[in-house]
This record gives sequence, C-alpha cells and structure tokens, in this order.
Amino acid sequence: MKFGVPKEVFEGEARVALTPESAKQLQKLGYDCAIETGAGALAGFSDKDYEEAGVEIIKTPAALWKACDIVAKVRQPNATEMKRLKKGQTLISFFNPAGNEAGMKAAKARGANVIAMEMVPRISRAQKMDALSSMANIAGYRAVIEAGNNFGRFFTGQITAAGKVPPAKVLVVGAGVAGLAAIGTSTSLGAVTYAFDVRPEVAEQVESMGAQFVYLDFEEEQQDGAATGGYASVSSPEFREAQLAKFRELAPEMDIVITTALIPNREAPELWTEDMVAAMKPGSVIVDLAAEKGGNCKQTVKDEKIVTENGVTIIGYTDFPSRMATQASTLYATNIRHMMTDLTPEKDGQIVHDMEDDVIRGATVAYEGEITFPPPPPKVA
Ligand code: NAD
Repeated sequence: MKFGVPKEVFEGEARVALTPESAKQLQKLGYDCAIETGAGALAGFSDKDYEEAGVEIIKTPAALWKACDIVAKVRQPNATEMKRLKKGQTLISFFNPAGNEAGMKAAKARGANVIAMEMVPRISRAQKMDALSSMANIAGYRAVIEAGNNFGRFFTGQITAAGKVPPAKVLVVGAGVAGLAAIGTSTSLGAVTYAFDVRPEVAEQVESMGAQFVYLDFEEEQQDGAATGGYASVSSPEFREAQLAKFRELAPEMDIVITTALIPNREAPELWTEDMVAAMKPGSVIVDLAAEKGGNCKQTVKDEKIVTENGVTIIGYTDFPSRMATQASTLYATNIRHMMTDLTPEKDGQIVHDMEDDVIRGATVAYEGEITFPPPPPKVA
C-alpha cells in the first residue's frame, strides 16, 4: 500500500507528518512512501532529503490524495481536503471529532477510515503514539523559551563583578505534560520555580524536578481532582477562592507565569485574574498555554502578544509546536509511524484495521462508512 503526506494547508503551519527517517521505517513495514513537493520545507526537510530516503515526490495535493491508500497529516483536514478522501482510504491526523461535525459527516459519506490522533487512549501501551503528549511537551518547553525571549533578565542568579543578579521566579500553573516540560526547562535554566496543580499527586513529580509545589490549605477538594482518571475536574467555589487567594499572594513576586490549566472538553478555567496581572512587576511575562481554550488569564489574546499598561507581556500563541517544526515533526512522524506499526501486524505493507484492539478502536472515529465516535472506554489501563 502507498502511504502519503500532503503539505499542510493551515496558515502558518510548519510541521509535516513524515520525515526522511520515519519514511525509512515505514518502508521497512512494507509501505511505499510519497510526499507532496515542498511539504517538509518549513520543518527543515527538503524534497532531496525525502528522495534520498526513497520517498516519491508528488507535485500536487490532488495527485497525492488520489495515489495513496493511507494519508497522514498534522492539522485537521479542511473541506477541500475532505472532498479528496476516497472510499476505503485511511486518514491519520488530528481531527477534533467532538468539534468537527462537517468533517465527521464527510468521512462517513465518503466511506473513509479516520484515525484521530487526539483520540489515542492515554494508556501505557499507547504512549509511543500519544501525539497530544509529544506536542504538549514541546509547547511546555517552548513556552519557557518564549518567556525568556521576552524577559529582560537572566533566569539564573549570578554574582558578577558588575553586580549581583537575583534568580528569576517562575510559577507554572497546571502540571500536566506541558506544565512538567515547562517546569523542567525553567529549573534547568536556573530559575526558582514554583508549580501548582489541582491534582496533588503530581507534587512529588514537581519536587523531583527541583521545583516547589504550592500547597493550599484545602485538602478535601484537592483529593477530588484525582477522581477523574488522572484528569482535573471543575473546582468548587471554595477551592477556587483558596487557589486565587494563593495566586494573589504570589503575583507581585513572580517574574514569569506559565499557565497550562485545562479541564477536558471545557473552556479553560480563569485562574490569573486582572488584579493579579496588575500586581505583577513591569517586565514580567505571562505565557498562557490555555489560549486555544479561552485562556487561563482573562487578558490573553489568542495568537497574539500584548503588553499591559503596567508593562506585563502576555503571550497567547497557540502554535508553539509549529514554532519548533523540526523537533515537532520528528516526534509527530514517530507517533504516526508507531500507529502504522500497530496497524501492520505482518509488516507486509497491508493495513489490518483491528477494531478489537483498544488503541486502534479508541482512535478510530470513522470506519467503513460509519461514525465510530465516541469509542467505548478502553478495556486495559
Ligand atoms: P491537560 O493538558 O488536560 O491539563 C493540564 C493540567 O492542568 C492538568 O495537570 C490538570 O490537572 C491541570 N488543571 C486543571 N484545572 C486546574 C486548575 N484549576 N488549577 C491548576 N491546575 C489545573 O493535561 P495533560 O497534560 O494532558 O495530562 C492530564 C493527565 O493525563 C495527567 O494525569 C497525565 O499524567 C495523564 N497522562 C497519561 C498518559 C499515559 O499515557 N499514561 C499520557 C499523557 C497524560
């Protein structure tokens, strides 16, 4: 079968779902690989690199979609791309099945099989295909780098002949995958790093990375956060008040605040309020990784950088993985390649779409002309 990757069409998207290295691995699984001309250019992979890895270069998106049995992408396909889907073709991509009614209908109508990368179950066996985590890891890292780039001082403290420099103080709100990556980056740059999460079970991880966990005097509800399969649930008003009071106390001291707090299938909770922004020192930086879902900070403007009247920079970019396109493409293409490995048990270049397999079933949102979303809960943890 032929596995192909078109150039991403979403404006500004620099990632690509195939690298020369992943192409070599896919060929070992028995697939012929193809890529649209220039698809890897923004991620640092030239047509020549692909050709040298044995990949066929196809000139137009229409020809690529037509020629391939399997098409892999990064971003949710647009309407034009959905029209290119063929009966029996397999599409592997982020797909946003819960918020993409038109795409789901089109997948059903066209009789294609769609694997949505954000639906890969978060169980140990599927970690190698967990593109949400690989992209969140990059976002967390890049958030700190972006903050540093907009911050006028060092992260680490220094005693120099020209004077003593205090270390920067960084607060990370939300210690999921992105938050933990931000914490690791911040501590490795030498900042004094604090972190808070509604799930107290992450405190140990936070502390093992050299950061300080911010505890609230509110044990009962903190336990509740852990009651939903590792994800956060909505906090009670009392808990939220205790959390905001703690943040108010910390705001004047913090130089950099990275917010990553999300609750599945909801708008992001507002945690960094206007008065906290107003209490921060001029030159401080907020990076709001929840900007896509409305932001943890009210003043965040999605996809923009603003500076408040009191000189606080607020960054609401939602394309951090694309800003590190080489790294992001390498990890994403590896996630896709692992998915292909599971779909190719005989390593003979033939897909076996095993709907009894928890991971494949969980990620499949359309199959043989039927919508198969939402999936049943996974059997294995
Ligand atoms: P996420 O991006 O959905 O949320 C980010 C973090 O924000 C979470 O840690 C959440 O607890 C926190 N949060 C929510 N509301 C908050 C609030 N009001 N204040 C402070 N923090 C708040 O999370 P994620 O990075 O996708 O990870 C979520 C869970 O999934 C974690 O338990 C993680 O360990 C688990 N996970 C498991 C696997 C696996 O393969 N086993 C892979 C990835 C993630």
